[in-house]
This record gives sequence, C-alpha cells and structure tokens, in this order.
Amino acid sequence: MSSNQTDVVFFDENGLRTDQRKPDEIRPMKIKIGVLSRANGSCYLEWGANKVIAAVYGPREAHPRRMQLAGKAVIRYRYNMQSFSVEDRARPGPSRRSSEISKVSREAFEPVIFSDAYPKAAIDIFVEVLQADAGTRTAAINAASLALVDAGIPMRGLVSACAVGKVGGKIVLDLNKPEDNYGEADLPIAMTEDGKITLVQMDGHLTPDEFTEAMELVQKGCRQVLEIQKAALLEKYASVMDDDSEIVEIEEEIAEDIEDSDADDITDEMVDDFVNQVSERLARDISAVISEYEVSDETSESTIDLFDDDIDLVIIDEDEESDIDFIEIDEDAVDFDDDSDDEDDDSDDEDDDSDDETEDFSKEIDKTSADDEEFDDDEEE
Ligand code: ADP
Repeated sequence: MSSNQTDVVFFDENGLRTDQRKPDEIRPMKIKIGVLSRANGSCYLEWGANKVIAAVYGPREAHPRRMQLAGKAVIRYRYNMQSFSVEDRARPGPSRRSSEISKVSREAFEPVIFSDAYPKAAIDIFVEVLQADAGTRTAAINAASLALVDAGIPMRGLVSACAVGKVGGKIVLDLNKPEDNYGEADLPIAMTEDGKITLVQMDGHLTPDEFTEAMELVQKGCRQVLEIQKAALLEKYASVMDDDSEIVEIEEEIAEDIEDSDADDITDEMVDDFVNQVSERLARDISAVISEYEVSDETSESTIDLFDDDIDLVIIDEDEESDIDFIEIDEDAVDFDDDSDDEDDDSDDEDDDSDDETEDFSKEIDKTSADDEEFDDDEEE
C-alpha cells in the first residue's frame, strides 16, 4: 500500500487479474514437509512467487534461563527476509517490519500450541523468506504451522493464513506484488481450523461493508489453504509409511493383531489395507482430534499419546504420571508451581538481570523493536 496509483490496470476485459486469477482465487501453493535434517520440524513452501522455509526447534530448554516460564514453554518466532529475496536488495538484519511480523505471527500460534506441556522449555520457530512477492507473512505462517506438526508439537489444530484486499475498487483474495503496492487495502489474517482468528492486520482503507465482504472472502481463502496443508501432511505421512522399515514393523503389528506369530504370512494387500487405515486415521485425527481436546488450566503432570504409538504427538492428561516425550528436563530444575521464585536455579545465569522469571517474552520483542529503531528502516515504504 505504498502508493495509490489510480492509473494502474488491475483487471482485464474478462475481469481477471494481472496474473490471470479470478478475484476469489489464491495463487498456486507447493509444500514440502521435513526438508531440514537438523531441525525438529521443517517445511518449504512456495505460494505464487513467494518462497519461504520454516524450521522448528524444540521443545528444548529455554536459554537464556531468564526467559523460562515456570508453567509453560516460551514460544519464539523469527521472521527474516533474505536480502536477495526482493528486487532491490533488502537491508539484512532485524528491522521494525520483521520484529512486528515476528511478534504478530508468534501470537497467531500461541492459542493453538499446548505450551503448558513444557514448563521452562522453548519452542523456536524460524522462517526465512527466500523470495518475496507480497503475502510473505501469510506464507510464513502456513509453512510454520506445518513445521510445528512435523516437529511433533502438540497443537489444537493447524493455523492457516491468507490475505485479502481491495484493488481497483474490488475485494480480491491473496494479493500479488503490484496489487499490494498499488491497491487500496491489504488485510492479512490467520485462523484456526475451527474458524477462530488469531491474526488480523490491515493496511489501507475499507468501508464497513467492504470489511465484512473481505472477512467472508478471506475465510474461504484460509479454508482452501487448510485443505492444501492437510494434503501436504497426508503426503508426508503416506511417504513415511512407504518406508521399508516401517512396512516390516507394520507386518509384525498385523501379525500380532491376527494372533499369527509369523510375519511372512502377511500379504501385500493386508499391508496396503493397514497403511490406508492409518493414513485415513491420521488425516482425521490431525483435523479433528487435536481441536476437540480441551486442556486443563491446572498444571498438568503427565501426558498421553494422541495417536497411540503411531506418531509422536502428545497431549496432557492430569490423571496420569509425568512422561514428557520431547525434552529432557532436569526434574530438580522443574518447578510446577507457577508462583514459585526461581532465584536458586539462576545462580549460573550471567544474563539474569530480571526480577520476574515469568515475564512475558513479548517484552523481549518490544525491547528488540526499540533496539531496531536505530536501524535505518529503508524498506518501509
Ligand atoms: P507481506 O510480504 O506479508 O505482504 P508487506 O506488505 O510488508 O508484507 O510487504 C509486501 C511486499 O513488499 C513483500 O512481500 C516484498 O515483496 C516487498 N517488500 C517488503 N519489504 C521489502 C524491502 N525491504 N525491500 C524490498 N521489497 C520489500
């Protein structure tokens, strides 16, 4: 929305946009999950000409320790645009824009992540924009959502994001670069599978009626994105099931099921049936089971497997014994009392200049934003 040029032509004689899309059409999206071997979860995503990669690390012990929260994991999100990602070289390093996007994107995930499961841990989400063509924050959120699933982070459901805007007087979905630059409004949103909005921003101007129309359209856009995300997850898990070692395990499992100790008797057809059943169950569970599960407000002391033994997602069950799968936490260092004072734990923490151990990480972000003001923000248009 840097300028409002009325002479820009946004639609051809057939009402199609500059990239031949209909007003309610999103750009083509390609997704590859699990592209980084060192990250716990990762996702490469192309959306039109946007190319982003997301990496998730954790849950792991939060450092510096003053960032630890006694009752839950701290979620950190870093959006970064590579200098080569745009036509004119972008200034490398943090900027007010990247700090803002990081903050609102983190907030888009906080309501869906079961962070209570991991006291004093950190869940780190990094997104690098490799090529930008408007809509990078929404592309980044979509990739991060899948990277979180790939990392086995327990969530109530996926987060899907899409932008809507007004160009040439019309409400259109998923703005491209010329539309973003010369249109009248740009409104990125993120929402959960059950339709709850976790991010909404707006640049430009809309009337109340246009805003209502835009919100209806963008929710349809998010639904389309959700379907693509689910298909990508299914593809990923189906390919895992194609792995030979998995097949051997499956054969043994089926043999046990039918009380036949000899796995050699298992036919290909039986394996295929089993794989199909598991794939269908995963698709169903990912879209439904997580979002239906309500976690207790009380501090939880144990976990149960969401999908039996099939994948590593875990959720909290306050009646069971503690058995957290993803992070090794020193039991002496873990304090389940939210109000506790952690001074003793921090004797070795050089950085600890904070009195409040449970201080919200957003203060760090605010601090970063303040620090960033000294950067020359030449990308703000
Ligand atoms: P989003 O990418 O989420 O739409 P903006 O609306 O801030 O975020 O940016 C729109 C587009 O403007 C970006 O996708 C990118 O193509 C371009 N852009 C953003 N920052 C810069 C920059 N520093 N230099 C050049 N182009 C930029």
